[in-house]
Amino acid sequence: MPDYRSIFGEIFFRENMPMSEYTSFRIGGNAEVLVEPASVGELLRCLSIAKELDKKVIIIGNGTNMLVSDEGIEGICIRIAERMSAAEINGTRINVQAGARIASIAKKSVLNGLMGLEWAAGIPGTVGGAIAMNAGAYYGEMSMVLKKVSGIMDGEFCSFDVKDDDMGYRKSRFIAPDFLTCEAEIELIPDDGSALSRMNDYNARRREKQPLSYPSAGSTFKRPEGYFAGALIEQAGLKGTSIGGAMVSTKHAGFIINTGNATCSDVLALIELVQKRVYDMSGVMLETEVKYIGKR
Ligand SMILES: Cc1cc2nc3c(=O)[nH]c(=O)nc-3n(C[C@H](O)[C@H](O)[C@H](O)COP(=O)(O)OP(=O)(O)OC[C@H]3O[C@@H](n4cnc5c(N)ncnc54)[C@H](O)[C@@H]3O)c2cc1C
Repeated sequence: MPDYRSIFGEIFFRENMPMSEYTSFRIGGNAEVLVEPASVGELLRCLSIAKELDKKVIIIGNGTNMLVSDEGIEGICIRIAERMSAAEINGTRINVQAGARIASIAKKSVLNGLMGLEWAAGIPGTVGGAIAMNAGAYYGEMSMVLKKVSGIMDGEFCSFDVKDDDMGYRKSRFIAPDFLTCEAEIELIPDDGSALSRMNDYNARRREKQPLSYPSAGSTFKRPEGYFAGALIEQAGLKGTSIGGAMVSTKHAGFIINTGNATCSDVLALIELVQKRVYDMSGVMLETEVKYIGKR
């Protein structure tokens, strides 16, 4: 193992960190080294260290859309989170760093008399993760409010005005490893007085319908065109089906939950089972929304 202490210097890092502590699924073996840059400069330094050491780079935000291998992550895991989370509101515009929580920004925007981000108040990821996934809910999604993205591409810091074809359903060109989002500009509109009640309503609906008391990575599968993943899984009789500690939630079949001691292998096996049964029943192949990271 390289002498990371002397290599990273002032940059915050930890060796052999269990990824179960950094993912909402509470699953995953150790990351050889996990670094948390506090600035674009530190992030660039981490990337050049990885290059010098010939190490693979894995970017994570709040780890809420991830399934990490039981064998862990080889290479340098760069977490863009609290240490890069400043936000500033100027009129209807929000300039925010990638590590800020999208839910906090949504709440802050409503408190500041703005609307357009209420749908994000229950999404537990970072702004960078929300941009990477084009996160969305209740008829809203990041692409509707995102104006500008700045980050690192091919080792250079650059900025882009967001265009229509940059993002699609749960996908975006601003995603690692091709693009590392550092900052974003979000444009909202003045609140007409309805934003707070809408935000509260969305959050109440989540609490009512989603298994929020169990670790998960949110919806396991993307919504297939013309269907709902949860409804197909329920029709296939899979609610409550479990493998090891992984279970298809009885509250919402679209969520695979960790009932306590699930391994990544349990979740992968359950995903396969669900895909096969749903396909056999309906001819629809469910595609995972959750990103798998690590060795297979
Ligand atoms: C209870 C629960 C409810 C959820 N509800 C929703 C919902 O309603 N709608 C929805 O869309 N999602 C939902 N999710 C999923 C998840 O919260 C979102 O996808 C979120 O946007 C992921 O952000 P993150 O910071 O956790 O990203 P991570 O899980 O850490 O990473 C996700 C992907 O983004 C990449 N990435 C992360 N940060 C950056 C960056 N700065 N630059 C480039 N790439 C980056 C990673 O490499 C990875 O490929 C839910 C999850 C949970 C656990």
